Amino acid sequence: MRVIFIGLLTLLFVTLMPVFAEDSVKLEIIYPKNGATINASSTFIVGNTEPDASLIINNQNVKVSSNGAFVQVTGLKKGINNINIKSTKGHAENEITYTINVPEKNQAVQSCPLEPLSLIAETTKDYAVTRTAPAQSRLTPLLSGTMLNITGKIGNSYRFKYSNSMEGWISESDIKILPTENYIPENIISTLNVDSDKNYVYLRLPLTQKIPFLIEQPFENQINLKLFGAKAGIDLFSYDNASDFIRELKLTQDLNNCLNLSIKTNSKQFWGYKYYYEGKTLVLRLRKPPQINSRHPLKGKIICIDAGHGGTELGSVGPTAVPEKLINLEIAEKLRNILEKEGAKVIMTRDSDKDVGLNDRVDTANSNEAQVSVSIHNNALPDGKDPYIEHGTSTYYYHCQSLPLAKSIQQSLVPTMGFKDLGVLYSSFVLTRPTEALSVLVEVGFMINPDEYNLLITPEFQEKAAIGISQGLKNFFLSQI
Ligand SMILES: [Zn+2]
Repeated sequence: MRVIFIGLLTLLFVTLMPVFAEDSVKLEIIYPKNGATINASSTFIVGNTEPDASLIINNQNVKVSSNGAFVQVTGLKKGINNINIKSTKGHAENEITYTINVPEKNQAVQSCPLEPLSLIAETTKDYAVTRTAPAQSRLTPLLSGTMLNITGKIGNSYRFKYSNSMEGWISESDIKILPTENYIPENIISTLNVDSDKNYVYLRLPLTQKIPFLIEQPFENQINLKLFGAKAGIDLFSYDNASDFIRELKLTQDLNNCLNLSIKTNSKQFWGYKYYYEGKTLVLRLRKPPQINSRHPLKGKIICIDAGHGGTELGSVGPTAVPEKLINLEIAEKLRNILEKEGAKVIMTRDSDKDVGLNDRVDTANSNEAQVSVSIHNNALPDGKDPYIEHGTSTYYYHCQSLPLAKSIQQSLVPTMGFKDLGVLYSSFVLTRPTEALSVLVEVGFMINPDEYNLLITPEFQEKAAIGISQGLKNFFLSQI
């Protein structure tokens, strides 16, 4: 009988459980994950609860937005940190305790010694990545078949010589070592051909051997091609057939076997370039500026819009769990509608919530001969930063030719959104590095700043973002007349 009584009590308790659960307050933590290891002196707790609940994180009252969103910066100490998050509404409450581990010591970076070498190698793929030092800044990617003087190796990176005073680094996977008798002969460049068609000007330099080079843009209306291991043997060349576009072509022989071809344009700036080989002839293809109608500056312009992330790649996730990928797509689609109404030909790297590779996005812009490419994102911060201090709108560029466009978009977007102006920043992203189109990346606002996030999730502010970017594009084209 006693056993039955206890059994009945248990049954009653279990049956009543959901009733207790209903009395609980909704509390969802989006970031960080419980048990995460974070190597920083602070993190931010991003989540949502019920709008009128009162929230306490580690004994501190936390502001809850009208939609329940909250973000709180919390200091961390070395070792195990317990973070107590408690939401209370009337008599109901919900309490979650998180543990975050901060490593006691920074992991020592294993440094490999430099192995000096004297070898000849050849690049095995187009646009192979080269760097100033292993894992450091990028240099102009090299084309397949480029001969390199290898001078050393660290780990899986090979060091090669551009000249006696400049070196670069390339991954082991992008080269093959050749028998040493494949010495690099000196290139005497004896002709420079300039050709032109409707959209492009082509500079052709026949070489005896594919050699490393750098392409630099000191100003938006100048490009320098630096060919290492080359000597000028040209006494006569003409660019009269492209003189509407090219103001001056100048060849100078620099120290250390570097032949510098400097190209200045008559237009306010360069509009993109591409380099490739035809046999052993190096071709530099320069895009001519488009015709711009002052009344309809976007008419006929080929504009690629890239909605950042998508599919399994969420991007950053805001306090009420809306992922960045969806906000980016909403803004991108609204921007497409505006631009199409203005007569632009718009190319979307994605028009639905799906996975698209970063290089596929660049290929979409290039294969459609986009003149301009705008990648749309919304920002987040790493641990250790404060989203109440660092937030706002920013625009990124990499090549000098994209800077005027980045400035124009930033100048229109900031007043339209009303967020803090974080400025135009130089940054090496996959979507800012392309050279064929003027390529910029926009971070409209911050996903982990509740004030900005709460606006970014509304169709009204997504439309504002699209209007700001489209106005920036329009102003840019107008500024080029
Ligand atoms: Zn993003």
